[in-house]
Amino acid sequence: MKIAVISLGCPKNLVDTEVMLGLLADEGYEFAADAGEADIVVVSTCSFISAAVVESRAVVDGCLELKDAGRVGHVIVAGCLPQRYADATWEMFPGVDAVVGCSDFERIAEVVREVAAGRRVYKVGTPRALYDERSPRVLGTPGHIAYVKIADGCANCCSYCTIPAIRGDLRSRTPESVVREVAALAKKGVREVNLIAQDTTAYGTDIASDITLPALLSALADTGVPWIRVLYTHPAHVTDELLRAMSELESVVPYLDMPIQHISDRILAAMGRRTDGERIRSLVRRTRDTIPGISIRSSVMVGFPGETDEEFGELLAFIRDGNVDHLGVFEYSPEPGTSAFSLSGRVQADTASARARVLVETMEELTEARGRSMLGDEVEVLVDSAGAVAEGRAVVARTAGQAWEMDGTVLVEADDSGPETGDFVLVRVTGVAGFDLTATLA
Ligand code: SF4
Repeated sequence: MKIAVISLGCPKNLVDTEVMLGLLADEGYEFAADAGEADIVVVSTCSFISAAVVESRAVVDGCLELKDAGRVGHVIVAGCLPQRYADATWEMFPGVDAVVGCSDFERIAEVVREVAAGRRVYKVGTPRALYDERSPRVLGTPGHIAYVKIADGCANCCSYCTIPAIRGDLRSRTPESVVREVAALAKKGVREVNLIAQDTTAYGTDIASDITLPALLSALADTGVPWIRVLYTHPAHVTDELLRAMSELESVVPYLDMPIQHISDRILAAMGRRTDGERIRSLVRRTRDTIPGISIRSSVMVGFPGETDEEFGELLAFIRDGNVDHLGVFEYSPEPGTSAFSLSGRVQADTASARARVLVETMEELTEARGRSMLGDEVEVLVDSAGAVAEGRAVVARTAGQAWEMDGTVLVEADDSGPETGDFVLVRVTGVAGFDLTATLA
């Protein structure tokens, strides 16, 4: 029996999908790359905003059309969508065979057995599941990169966010479990580990006061992974101790992913972000002082209820001032069940879109200017892919300041003897192409 597994949404969901793949592989199932070639399709969905729900629904509906056409036997909906909508998922997709929440992804092999025997299955409970180093995993990333989820759930309750309702309370893995997993990944040839959670800086606060992200980074220093990257920090929880650890530990790349969401005091308070504009500005200064050359990635939200032109202008000025090096821009999405849903002062959709566009264009200009300032520099890159083309090799790589599939890349000119995927090489920057750099081997 062949199974196709489709993963949607964020890296946190991807790790759950990878564990499902591992559990199914352990049972001896084979995988199909394409849904149309499978007996059973598992769609691991996303639902944190309505746009993600729309995308998930379109993918599941596509699989159900294949089922109606007799090209697929059974369809299983898993992950965040059923966790959010529970048994209403059946009404959305009357033709699916199983509904499995984030709470029960570790029971996927049992669900597949039931479905194959012709039974409908519903498994959505309290989201408590969390994998560990003993969980089988089939990486969905290129072999030299891995995500390692150090915690799941969130205790922050930002006013716009559905995640605590979907993913449950914060629950951290033990440092020993994370260290064992990262050491095993290093042995398998992983060169870059990306630590993820809903809020990585909350890591350990649910276990003990001495279990912290800085302590975990120190414990990971000897695992043999050359690049360790910290993603998804919260500005209210980034401490000087964390910055010191990042500056002192060679394997931790000089990169901080810190979604600030906004810079206006009033909006940050309404968002429940537990910080303010001055504290964020001060934190950015301390981060750059402590870790010279660091790349800061952030994400911001425009169109939060009541956001005025002046408040947006404050955010735009903060970005224009070069406080961040990479930026994700999101438009506020009113989500039922969140406290912000009932706030008055909804911003018109076209105003929010226009604000988002201005930020993206501003960031593109800043990124190009930063790229031009690097012309002629020699930088170390990690090769993400290297394939033969008509004349030589097409090499796509990244500096330590560029996260995989989030920031730009470095396109390296190389001949047939050029580097392989997973190699670290020195390159000389020769040009800028939008968010990407071009380079030759140094
Ligand atoms: S920190 Fe805030 S935005 Fe992030 S997952 Fe938790 S509640 Fe949502």
